[in-house]
Amino acid sequence: MTFVVLDRVTKRFGNVVAVDNVSLEVKKGEFVVFLGPSGCGKTTTLRIIAGLERPTSGRVYIDGVDVTDLEPGERDVAMVFQDYAIYPHMTVFQNIAFPLEVNKKKLRLTPRDIRERVERVAKMLQIDHLLNRKASQLSGGQQQRVALARALVREPKVWLMDEPLSNLDALIRLQVRAELKRLQRDLGITTIYVTHDQVEALTLADRIAVMNAGRVVQYAPPGEIYDEPQHMFVATFVGNPPMNVLKCTPAGEVLKCPGFELRNPGVSQPVYFGIRPEYIEWSPKHVEGAVKGVVYVVEPIGSEYIINVTLGNTLIKVKTFREVALRPGDEIYLRFNLRKAKIFDEATGKLLL
Ligand code: ATP
Repeated sequence: MTFVVLDRVTKRFGNVVAVDNVSLEVKKGEFVVFLGPSGCGKTTTLRIIAGLERPTSGRVYIDGVDVTDLEPGERDVAMVFQDYAIYPHMTVFQNIAFPLEVNKKKLRLTPRDIRERVERVAKMLQIDHLLNRKASQLSGGQQQRVALARALVREPKVWLMDEPLSNLDALIRLQVRAELKRLQRDLGITTIYVTHDQVEALTLADRIAVMNAGRVVQYAPPGEIYDEPQHMFVATFVGNPPMNVLKCTPAGEVLKCPGFELRNPGVSQPVYFGIRPEYIEWSPKHVEGAVKGVVYVVEPIGSEYIINVTLGNTLIKVKTFREVALRPGDEIYLRFNLRKAKIFDEATGKLLL
């Protein structure tokens, strides 16, 4: 059942087209992440859903109602920003309880209900030991969690979140990320979440809308975004490290790529050959059908290694769990898992094969 609908939404700021004809549907209870680089229009799209911006054209629907001309307060959404604001003179408890207190008649909440909801969300965000503290006496990361708790304590139709975890330190961010997903699942609140962090997107989302230059390039579940990118932009934005892309040109039966040739899969125009770092097998010795490269540098990252390899005039990355005893300048032999390879049109970036 669709719950939030964007219908051909465009937003211009003077000459800048921040959001370019975006149509998108979010199902009830779904967790959708807008993912993209800085300036791609994620925040503006979210603010349009919240009612903080009016679209230049297009309509927004929430729960079957056209809300395009409604004020934020009339939409029953809760928004969490990266820049939090809390009431410094109030305690943590009072801060979190505030949205419930002001609506307690409408929501029919007893003081006990309020306490239970505040405690639950405070526990989830690991600030339950701070409930009696003045908000002004907290660290920045704790204040951020109070602001998040204050948004999450409400159970509106939609939660809208703009990089809510970005000011938390790495360890707490991981914990809160998991707790947030659990709470969203438990309560089933439709959630739209903006981030430029692909790990957050992949871990949290039911579906990811990858955005670039004001447009949605692909809208699909995380696994599909990762394994079946429909555009080179998605392939090279998602993945750590992202997909290798090598420019190749057809020459009859073969595709000429940097430092090697492949059988032409049937293209007549220049293309990008795309292969993820984990779909490349490597060997220090020559093996049948392998492509020869030269080790540029090896980067150990805990349980894995990233081998940077020069192929012709191009640097690619190979990801491996095997111990690597290679040095810069050593020869290395690579085999691509061609079943996992992608071919993108050089001119448009669109997936061909
Ligand atoms: P970031 O991750 O950096 O926050 P974003 O993807 O959220 O980026 P937006 O903030 O939506 O991007 O901005 C999209 C484009 O619209 C940018 O080019 C930005 O400069 C422009 N823009 C956003 N708000 C305004 C405004 N109020 N006036 C003029 N231009 C704006």
